[in-house]
Amino acid sequence: MSRLSFLAASAANRLAACLPSSLGRWLRNRSWPCARPVLRYLEFHLTDHCNMNCGGCTHFAPMADRWFADKERVTADFDRLKALFRNIREIRVMGGEPLLHPDCVSFLQIVRDAFPACRLALVTNGLLLARQSAEFWKACRATRTIISLSVYPPVRPQVEMLTARCREERVPLECVESGMFLARYIPEGNVDVRKAFRFCRGSWYFCPILREGRVYRCAMGCYAAYWNRAAKDGMPAEDGIALGSATGPEILDYLMRPMPTCAYCSPKARAFAWRNGTPRLEDWIR
Ligand code: SF4
Ligand code: SF4
Repeated sequence: MSRLSFLAASAANRLAACLPSSLGRWLRNRSWPCARPVLRYLEFHLTDHCNMNCGGCTHFAPMADRWFADKERVTADFDRLKALFRNIREIRVMGGEPLLHPDCVSFLQIVRDAFPACRLALVTNGLLLARQSAEFWKACRATRTIISLSVYPPVRPQVEMLTARCREERVPLECVESGMFLARYIPEGNVDVRKAFRFCRGSWYFCPILREGRVYRCAMGCYAAYWNRAAKDGMPAEDGIALGSATGPEILDYLMRPMPTCAYCSPKARAFAWRNGTPRLEDWIR
């Protein structure tokens, strides 16, 4: 994205976050008001667990169960999404670490079949990328998948090799430098939810998640149970909105409204240098 379009998108996001949700939803998604609108962004997990275990992971992967996405479930969800939305501009297949899923390529095909015009990215920490099979690379080409490589310190020495490999396989690669993490969690839950949400939706925090028939506003609400189990805490989990009974405009409206989880999410994050290993709760706390 060019600097100009980045600035234009940021300004539109800030404006959308200040408007009543019924208006902001159209601007936020760059969609005309219609029964089958456009959703700007959606992500979903192939696995909840990860082989990197970063402190402060916003998806709580270091505390997660060993969980794998189910092909039939995801197919049904994308059939329904296709009926609800004319397009989803960007879909990110992620985790946890998606390459830990033994059938990653099937999910790329499911997404591409449902949304031929979307920008499709596979978000990976790269630890397993070099050992992928010819079938994987072929599927990436066939589905026009972009590899989005989160460059954590252990992967830095391999970036050159992975770049060459993607070029050789004719699969686009984007590298996202990920040396710093942000801790946002406020255990007291005393953040003004409107303020937190306005900040989140006004910046780049617009990351709705699909999970087993429901859409969630963000990872923090969707995966709260993992944090609560590890920290013996009571952060409110998000219920999500059911794909089966909602309309497209209702989903867009839902994504533009704050929730009780936002009271635990500080707009002023604490930055710290990446580290991994056994989870230390302080890495998530502001
Ligand atoms: S690589 Fe990504 S998903 Fe895995 S633990 Fe780190 S931040 Fe979380
Ligand atoms: S908890 Fe609320 S404010 Fe924080 S990222 Fe999620 S939706 Fe945004």
